[in-house]
Amino acid sequence: MYATKCWFCCIHRSAFISFGGIKQAETEADYEVVLHFELVGRFNLPHLYCLHQRCIFAKSREPHMRRVLQMLCVVVVSIGVVFSYEIAVSVSAQNSQNTLMPHSAYEPPAAKDAASLTASTKASPPNLLTTSEKTNWDETGPYAEVIDLSHKLEAASRFVKAINFGTTPEGHPMTALIVSKDRAFTPAAAAKTNKAIILIQSGIHSGEIEGKDTAFMLVRDMAVTKRYAAWLDKAIFVVIPVFNIDGHDYFSPYHRVNQNGPRSTGLRENAQGLNLNRDYIKADTPEMRAWLALYNAWLPDFMFDNHVTDGSDMQYDVTWDMARNQDIAEPVRTWINVRYVPELDRRMAADGHGVAPYGALRNTPSGKREFFMEVFTPRYSHLYSAVQNRPCLLVETHSLKSTRTRAWADFDIMRNTIDIILTDPEALRSAVRTADLTLAAQAGNPAAPAVYLAGKVSEQQSHPLVYRALKLGPYKSEVTGANVNGYLPEPDNIDTVIHDKIDTTVEAQMPLGYIIPAAWKVFADELVLHGVEMEKITTALEQEFETYRFSSIKFGTTQNEGRVMVDFDAKLVKERVAVPVGSFWVPMHQRRARLILAMLEPQAPDSLAHWGFCNSVLFSGGRGGREGAYLTEPIARRMMLDHPDLRKQFEDKLASDPAFAADPQARLMWWFQRSDYAPSNAGRYPILRVWQKTW
Ligand SMILES: [Zn+2]
Repeated sequence: MYATKCWFCCIHRSAFISFGGIKQAETEADYEVVLHFELVGRFNLPHLYCLHQRCIFAKSREPHMRRVLQMLCVVVVSIGVVFSYEIAVSVSAQNSQNTLMPHSAYEPPAAKDAASLTASTKASPPNLLTTSEKTNWDETGPYAEVIDLSHKLEAASRFVKAINFGTTPEGHPMTALIVSKDRAFTPAAAAKTNKAIILIQSGIHSGEIEGKDTAFMLVRDMAVTKRYAAWLDKAIFVVIPVFNIDGHDYFSPYHRVNQNGPRSTGLRENAQGLNLNRDYIKADTPEMRAWLALYNAWLPDFMFDNHVTDGSDMQYDVTWDMARNQDIAEPVRTWINVRYVPELDRRMAADGHGVAPYGALRNTPSGKREFFMEVFTPRYSHLYSAVQNRPCLLVETHSLKSTRTRAWADFDIMRNTIDIILTDPEALRSAVRTADLTLAAQAGNPAAPAVYLAGKVSEQQSHPLVYRALKLGPYKSEVTGANVNGYLPEPDNIDTVIHDKIDTTVEAQMPLGYIIPAAWKVFADELVLHGVEMEKITTALEQEFETYRFSSIKFGTTQNEGRVMVDFDAKLVKERVAVPVGSFWVPMHQRRARLILAMLEPQAPDSLAHWGFCNSVLFSGGRGGREGAYLTEPIARRMMLDHPDLRKQFEDKLASDPAFAADPQARLMWWFQRSDYAPSNAGRYPILRVWQKTW
C-alpha cells in the first residue's frame, strides 16, 4: 500500500514528485521509504510508451532518509525537464502491517527478460495495452477494462467479435471474445470451417488473474499485431478473459496472502460465496449455467483454465494438470501422453521455464519423500472437459513468483500448447471425435469395458523424477516462540519418483440408457444444462429395472459449496418399478455418455446423488417409523412368530451388536423395515438403469 500525494505538479505539468506517508514514517519506526522512478517517455512513438519502468532507487527504514531522497527527486525531475522526458518520481512509506507481498526465493534466470511476454507488449499499439502491462505487472485493471479492451480489439480487427454469454448474480454482462479469420462467430459457422476450436478461460478464481492479461495479449498477437496470425489459419478461439466477474471487482490487497502481486486482486468465490471451480456438475451458479451453454454450443477441442497456485516455494514457475489416465477416453489419452506432454515439456524447458505436474511431495510410510499428483473429479474444469472427451490444461503458475514471471509462464504455456496443437490439428480433432463415437457405441453392451468413475493416485506405480525444490532454513520467531521454516534461495534437487498413475476405485457398466421418473425432473433439468439429449416417455411402464439401494447413509456435518453432501454405499439391485407417463428417457448412445455416467451413477464422486439432489429418498424405516410403539410393536411381534428365519437373524444381531441390543427404537425399526408397511422407495435410487428398451 503506497499512499502518495502530488508535490511538484505546479512546477511541471507532466512531472511530479510525491511524498506520501512521510509524516507517518517519521512517527513509526517500522516504515519503509521507497523511491520510485518512472520513465514514461513523452515522444509520440508508440513503442516508447512501453518502456515504462518502476525501479526502487533507495530503500530505508530510517525516516531521516526522507530529505536525502527528496533532494534526489528534485535532481531527477530537473534532468527530466531539461531533456523533455515525462518523469514521475515518488517517495512513499510502506507500512509493514500492510501486504507483505511474499516472494519466491528463486526466479528462473530467463524470467529477467521474459522475452516472449516483453515482445508482445512492445509490439502492441498503446491503446491495446492492459493495466498490468502499463504498470509493469504491478496492478491489474477492473472488469470495465475487460469490456473496453474487448471492444477496442473488435474495432482493431475484423477477426474479433465480443459477445455476451450471460449475466452474473450482480447483473454484469459476461464477455467472451471469438477470434476467427473466417468471421465464423457462431458455433454453427465455426463447425463448417473444420478448424480446431480452442477455449481460453481465465479468472475463474479472480484473484489468480494474470491469465486475463495473457489471454488479451494472445488475441492481440493473433488478430492485431499478427505475430501469431498463422494460428487463425487452423483454429478458432473462444476467450473468456474473466469467468468470475463479480468476484473480480471486489478488489483488495488482502485476498491472496500467498501471492506475489498484483497489488490488489479480486476474490476466489463469486458474489454468492460459491467456488465456480467446484460447480461444473451441479451448476448452481448463473455463471456456470451460462458457461455450460457456451461450452456445449462450441464444444472446444481443447481448453485452458488459468490459475495461480496456493502452495509452497519451489524452483518451478509453472505447474499443470490434465486428465491423462483412465480419467479420459482413448484415443485422447494417447494424444495427450504421446503427442502433447513430452513436446510441451521440451518447448517450455527450451524457453527457460521450470515446469512440473501439479502435485506435492509427501512422506511415504517407508520414510521416503516422493511426489504425488492429485486425482480430480468432474466438479473441476479440467475433469469436466475430460468427461466430455476433451483435454483441458489446468495451468497453475507459481504464486510466489512475481506477477510478471507468472504472466510470462502462462503466456508461454498457452503459446507452446497452441503451437503443438496446430502442428497437426487434425490429430487432436480426430482423437476427440473418435472418443465420442467409441463411448456412445458402448451403450447397452454388457461386454464393453466398465467406464472409470473414480480413483486414487497409485501408491505402487511410479517413475523416476528429479524434483526441483528449494532448501529450507529455520528461523526463530518472536511471535510463535518457536522456529519457522523458511525457504532459502538454494536449489534442492531431490532424486525421487513421481506417482502420476491412477488406481480405479469406482467404475460402471454403461446401460442402454436411464429413465428419470417424472417426479425427478430436477435430474433431467440438470442434464439439459449440460446439453444431454433425452425424450419424454409417452406410455406408462411397469417392469423390472436395474437401480441401486442405499445403505450406510452419512450426511455431511457442514455445508459444502452451499449444499449438504451425502455419502452412502450403493448396491446394484433389480426391482419392479412403475414409471408414469411424462418420465424422461436418456439414451446413452450419445457423445455425452461419459458425462451422463458421472452425473447419474450415484457412486461417482460428483454424482447428483452425492450433491444431494435426491436426499429425500435417503432414509429407511418409512412411514411406520414415526408411529407409536404401541402400534408397531404388535406387528413386529407377529412377524417374529411367523418368520423363524428372521428371528434367527435378529437374535444374531442382538448377540453381536450390543449398541443395537440396547436401543429399543433400533430393535423395533429392524422389524418394521422388513414389514410390508415399510415404503418400497425408502433408500432406493429413483433413477433407473435400462438394458433393453421395451416401449
Ligand atoms: Zn485457482
